Amino acid sequence: MKVVIVGGVAGGATAAARIRRLDEKAEIVVFERSGYISYANCGLPYYIGDVIEAPDDLTLQTPESFFTRFRVNMKVRHEVTAIHPERKTVTVKNLETGEEFEEIYDKLILSPGAKPTTPSFPGLDSDKLFTLRTVEDTFRIKEYIRKHQPKSAVLAGGGFIGLELAENLRQLGMDVTIVQNLPQLMTPFDSDMAAFIHAELRSHSVKLALNRTVEGFAERDGGIDVMLKDALPIHADMAVLAIGVTPDTSLARGAGLELGIKGSILVNDRMETSVPDIYAGGDAVQVKHFVTGEDTLIPLAGPANKQGRIAADNICGIPSTYRGSQGSSVIKVFDITAASTGVNETVAKASGLEADHVILSPMSHAGYYPGGKLMTMKVVFEKETYRLLGAQIVGYEGVDKRIDVLATAIFAGLRATELKDLDLAYAPPYSSAKDPVNMAGFMIENIEEGIVKQWYLGQLEELQEKGERGQVTLLDVRTPAEIAFGRIPGFMNIPLDSLRDHLDELDPAKPIYVICQSGLRSYVACRILAGYGFDAFNFAG
Ligand code: FAD
Repeated sequence: MKVVIVGGVAGGATAAARIRRLDEKAEIVVFERSGYISYANCGLPYYIGDVIEAPDDLTLQTPESFFTRFRVNMKVRHEVTAIHPERKTVTVKNLETGEEFEEIYDKLILSPGAKPTTPSFPGLDSDKLFTLRTVEDTFRIKEYIRKHQPKSAVLAGGGFIGLELAENLRQLGMDVTIVQNLPQLMTPFDSDMAAFIHAELRSHSVKLALNRTVEGFAERDGGIDVMLKDALPIHADMAVLAIGVTPDTSLARGAGLELGIKGSILVNDRMETSVPDIYAGGDAVQVKHFVTGEDTLIPLAGPANKQGRIAADNICGIPSTYRGSQGSSVIKVFDITAASTGVNETVAKASGLEADHVILSPMSHAGYYPGGKLMTMKVVFEKETYRLLGAQIVGYEGVDKRIDVLATAIFAGLRATELKDLDLAYAPPYSSAKDPVNMAGFMIENIEEGIVKQWYLGQLEELQEKGERGQVTLLDVRTPAEIAFGRIPGFMNIPLDSLRDHLDELDPAKPIYVICQSGLRSYVACRILAGYGFDAFNFAG
């Protein structure tokens, strides 16, 4: 059997290695357009910021090491320019020599990835404008910085690559502005959770130009103007376009493969395309969202690696299926970690799901053991069924482990209330006897049992108006010292510990909406009030 693979990085290299492990006799040829195979895309921003110092650390394998270990013929600087399914060949161009030839396959795997989304903006040819996808892109940025010592950069796009670059360019002492066409960065997060990311970036002097749409670029005064819709341009010494990625599927289109969203390749759960003996995986393919069941694109390394392995399994006769993508992701933003899995509240509602959520701010480990840090966790679940839909966490320590527990719970189909039952490892330096994930479960159980009723940020203005009209009571149960730092207009203050002594100040005929710092004391207050017959609602957050 001869297997030809297009793309020698996440999905392609994984597939090649897996096929070899399953079939010592197979002939395996990988064509890779760039000069590198199996490189660490995810590490590229950190090389720019000097966190990863040696360029060799970016390449996990070389064609030689791959051949030695796996006997896979890795042809770098070779671009596959056409697929001929009728005669089961591909046309390949050697980018060093310009020579073209046809290669026969029995099975073909496409893992060509995605390319930076590049609208037809003016000024794209500027040598002060960059995109970041490959090792070569990285070296180009690094060389520009070494040669020109830029003092400022504009990053068009507030997603993963924009944020990772912001941190790394600040690390080099540059003045950094992120331009984003939405009111928030990082759309896997709801706006309330993204606010923590905004605060962290601003505290490290990254400027955010939110609600601003990039329309083009123009060189001026030795630098580059980033042109904005309905606003003055932002001038900088360099700019990076990182507004998302588009599946790199011109090859598949040319061969008549069925395509989906943004030209992505349609595959079944065995990673088979619409054409026999052609498989595909990675950023180039359309996937089913594990939570919503909807068709979507989730260009992340985990899915790409798994899909490469699944294609290899099926080619080698092992029935193997892809179960869908949850979009689990994690990012370091200066001193914080932000992670998400499943869908957020915004996406859930857009998908027609009736979603509710809890927000909690537990410590990363037992409060009495030094070094514990607060994290903020939002768990989204379906009303009525209590199916877990997603989670977002922002904090300092232990964020990655909690998101992975929650991702596993979603995959396993646990009900949100079952989070309380998980038997999670505990010792004071690592967690609390009631882990943050358990705490989320307790809170959701309280909602299911009717022990707690919640109110939400989106209701605030309406409640303030009702408060002014005397229809509701708004109650803040923090201490006077905390209140001195700031308060929400319209809320009366009775500290939790003296609440029982001041019940006569509250009108039993009116519902009471309670708030504190993190939701814990307001919950206790709600239980006290309920015990005296009041109709109390706890703030979710
Ligand atoms: P790739 O790994 O991109 O490989 C595709 C390869 O195919 C490319 O090298 C390309 O040159 C080659 N190719 C394309 N067309 C042809 C052709 N016609 N002929 C020959 N070769 C061709 N994901 C995470 O989960 N976590 C992260 O922290 C993370 N960080 C990232 C940071 C950066 C800067 C980037 C760019 C990506 C990051 N990703 C991250 C995304 C992750 O790298 C991708 O999801 C993953 O690499 C996709 O794998 P793939 O095999 O589909 O494509």
